[in-house]
Amino acid sequence: VALLYFRLFHIAFTIKKNSILFQNTSTATCSIPDAMKPHVYKFGGSSLANPERIREAIQMVRCDPKCLSVVVSAFGARFKGDLKATDLLLRYVAKIEQPRQQAKILTQVKARFAEIAAGFEETASFDTNRYWDHMAKIFAANKHADFFITRGEHCMARLMALILGFRFVDATEFIRLERGCYLLEQSKRQAKKIRLAETPSVVPGFYGLTLGGFVQAFQRGGSDISGAMGAELLEAETYFNCTDVNGVLDANPDLVPNAQTIPIMSFDELGEMASRGASVVHSYALRPVRRARIPVIVRNTRNPEHQGTLITRREDIPTRIPGSILGLAGRNGFLPIIISKDGMDEEVAFLATVTRIFADHGLNIEHIPDSRNAITVIVNGKAFRRVEKAIRNDLAKKCHPDSISIGNELALVCVVGAAMREHSGVAAQILNTLASERISVSTISQGGSEISIVLGISNDKYEAAMRALHAGLL
Ligand code: ASP
Repeated sequence: VALLYFRLFHIAFTIKKNSILFQNTSTATCSIPDAMKPHVYKFGGSSLANPERIREAIQMVRCDPKCLSVVVSAFGARFKGDLKATDLLLRYVAKIEQPRQQAKILTQVKARFAEIAAGFEETASFDTNRYWDHMAKIFAANKHADFFITRGEHCMARLMALILGFRFVDATEFIRLERGCYLLEQSKRQAKKIRLAETPSVVPGFYGLTLGGFVQAFQRGGSDISGAMGAELLEAETYFNCTDVNGVLDANPDLVPNAQTIPIMSFDELGEMASRGASVVHSYALRPVRRARIPVIVRNTRNPEHQGTLITRREDIPTRIPGSILGLAGRNGFLPIIISKDGMDEEVAFLATVTRIFADHGLNIEHIPDSRNAITVIVNGKAFRRVEKAIRNDLAKKCHPDSISIGNELALVCVVGAAMREHSGVAAQILNTLASERISVSTISQGGSEISIVLGISNDKYEAAMRALHAGLL
């Protein structure tokens, strides 16, 4: 029993500890003349979900003679509700003591890869069923979850290398990590040693190798990070992040059907949009290319003619109309926790104590509007409910508030655009637009950088607010 607990703990631990930190190293500017710099492509799971999608991805690569490296995710979902490779592999790992369930999952994984391999003559030499039996055996022996869950990328990269006729280079050959940190200098040395820049290659995304010799997975969606690392190491001219939408959209298309592609935006603007709920590519994943000053193009594999979105440095963006808005992002399901105490404004470090309590319980604070005698901590509603009792206890013990109350569920809507900076009337325009739809605003904040304005509105007005703001401002 002890051994079983140890194993389960080890697996849970290896799955959870995988967010990667980037050191603040600035990369030396490039020695290669611009025209000779290569392109790096990353294809997400949706671009590799079946042979048809893969053919589109292959076509994109073949049309670009400058493509030197292709970084791949494992296969993604083919339709709503379909499971991605990584979801299946995570389930497999979780069912460690249920061999029958594991066998079922393995059959699904094998079937998907066999279907993909069967779509291409070039893969005839690669028996994917044998590959997966072998990987399952290794996992049964070493119980190393990160190793197993990243085999989706590994298998996909081997198939893609055969189809493209490119060299397969395992990420473990050059991406070096230690204690959750990406080691740029060691990775550079390794990349040089294996001559990564000399021949076109396919590399599996989503993992690297620790100095201790273990495979370490990144956080979910981490192939974006691998692609950015590859682009930095190869001193790329451009990093193409290929997905199944026409770039970064100016609103969530599920809420705003006529959402449009943003043609050009800065890394900071992407960061604001992404952290407030816009999907596609996370700005954090782009840290390596940002510091190496490599522009990113988010492009649709299914619509390669579309220009997509160019993400670049602020200095390289043409001047926009002053006060203009770039896009909207948002999320709902937040709860405002209102902590009131007469005289809190005179208490040293009151806010610090409150935020510490939330942090100790693993809650990420989205936003803290305050008044003289009350602060409102806005957090994810579901996550808060799980630790509510403990947080209330701690607040009572350490902060002695007059009252703690919980308001109605909120949505946070974020209006983004660097052109709002130093321009008067933008907030008025936003508030007027919402007022004309009878949507009242519970909280509002704008940071000193003036790149975004965040509004808290009632959860049930979320969609209406998004649509109204899109129609009125964009
Ligand atoms: N396959 C991994 C995931 O689904 C990594 C990725 O696709 O970027 O999260």
